Amino acid sequence: MRRRDFVSAALSTSVVACLPIDKARTSTLPALTMTGGETTLTQTELAEFAASLRGDVVLPNDAAYDQARRAWNGVFDKHPALIARCRGAADVTQAVNFARSHQLITAVRAGGHSMAGKSICEGGIVIDVSPMQSVRVDPDRRIARIDAGVLLRGLDHEAQQFGLATTAGVVSHTGAAGLTLGGGLGRLQRKHGLTIDNLRGVDIVTADGRWLRANRDENADLFWGVRGGGGNFGVVTAFEYQLHPVGPTVLNVASLYPIEQARQMLEFYFEFMQAAPDDLYIGAGMIKRPDGRAMAMISGCFFGRFDAADALLQPLREFGTPIVQTIAPIEYLDLQSRNDDNNPHGRKYYSKSGFFNDVDSSLIDALVEGFGRARAPQTGVLISPFGGAVGRVNPGDTAFYHRDAQFNIEVALSWEANAQSAEYVEWGREFWRGVMPFASSGFYVNTEMDPSERRLRENYGANYDRLVALKHRYDPGNLFRLNANIKPTG
Ligand SMILES: Cc1cc2nc3c(=O)[nH]c(=O)nc-3n(C[C@H](O)[C@H](O)[C@H](O)COP(=O)(O)OP(=O)(O)OC[C@H]3O[C@@H](n4cnc5c(N)ncnc54)[C@H](O)[C@@H]3O)c2cc1C
Repeated sequence: MRRRDFVSAALSTSVVACLPIDKARTSTLPALTMTGGETTLTQTELAEFAASLRGDVVLPNDAAYDQARRAWNGVFDKHPALIARCRGAADVTQAVNFARSHQLITAVRAGGHSMAGKSICEGGIVIDVSPMQSVRVDPDRRIARIDAGVLLRGLDHEAQQFGLATTAGVVSHTGAAGLTLGGGLGRLQRKHGLTIDNLRGVDIVTADGRWLRANRDENADLFWGVRGGGGNFGVVTAFEYQLHPVGPTVLNVASLYPIEQARQMLEFYFEFMQAAPDDLYIGAGMIKRPDGRAMAMISGCFFGRFDAADALLQPLREFGTPIVQTIAPIEYLDLQSRNDDNNPHGRKYYSKSGFFNDVDSSLIDALVEGFGRARAPQTGVLISPFGGAVGRVNPGDTAFYHRDAQFNIEVALSWEANAQSAEYVEWGREFWRGVMPFASSGFYVNTEMDPSERRLRENYGANYDRLVALKHRYDPGNLFRLNANIKPTG
């Protein structure tokens, strides 16, 4: 059955689906398998599955279906056969077993922010952990334990009650689960490492339906793999993080410059960051707004003592002619949610990113000249600093390999309607072709759209073979393939 036929067939069963499941035992629901084949799920099977959950099963004609299948990136408009909204590890186990026994194409969803739309699938099952929302902070041991559906704002909010935090991303409506499993970049990374460097352990349901704890002492191989290997090995149901004293007030640093100063600003920025202490997290970039206005910017924060900031930030104060410059205290929680409104759900997004070690004037030329041709209504070239604690972990200690990166550079575009999207995406690709030769060959799996097997092998470097062995051990049938997929056979 072609995809479009499949979708309409699935919807035609939706009249049945909206009946209580046990009243429609004779009807079936078409679904797609992992290999793209067709299968059918009987109402008896669906009813038994639904009865085995504390959460619920959402089918195509349910009122909740359209909301439940929606991805953050509006580019993706997929129609799963069913969505299992899990309320705990027992539900996840049932869902994994159901997916495996029917060989369904399987997506795993937490915060729904997959840039590549991988947490929703066409015709298969979505194992949705977003109803799992508990956060527990132990202030004495400085540990946070969260359920897999928690968003970054939930983790930060509870931890900040005790003046604590761990490295988390820069948009607070992002899911902690997907972000952590790919590595986890954020403002605290130079001081405290990536999110995975602060991960103490996970609870995970592997493809065979086993619930396992993975930490330094138990299933240490799996613990290594989930720290950068993404959702390849199972569905994580809980995460435990090490927290650190942070804020509650930190120093916010933000300067906007006329776009004509972008080249000098980037030269200044790359040199300035070379001597920066771990307490300083400053990014740079160029942004184009929907009104067509373009600007260059430097923005970030300082986690050290405020009285040490004056001397440190003096060169920034003296540089260029900013349109506006703010160096002022801010609540850490406010800083963490500052970008939320610029990244709303449902708009269409495209991004490319890569890690860079050496930066020189040719890279700056490529960035500035490429940006000058930007087409999408909203375009950002965003440079975030690595180094510090990120680089003090050996590349083989976790699956995340790029410990020597000095900067992550991302180009991100977004637009409302899709009329012009091909043109925008083409510009994004062209921009990246100009910049890529300067990258140190790696990229962040969490923001890459659809990396090929060859690129993934290169990206994980010496860690790749170990990831393949792990995949073979925990998911030999590649049930969890909607991700930056490590194939069990290499
Ligand atoms: C607006 C925005 C801002 C971002 N900012 C940052 C940032 O500052 N730092 C950063 O590091 N990244 C950032 N990212 C990238 C982010 O890390 C990824 O998009 C990440 O996948 C989001 O996680 P999620 O749970 O919201 O996503 P989902 O779409 O729910 O999941 C993404 C993938 O993660 C896997 N997954 C999710 N939950 C589980 C689970 N419980 N068990 C196993 N696998 C699972 C699945 O493979 C799934 O396809 C940002 C993304 C967006 C859209």
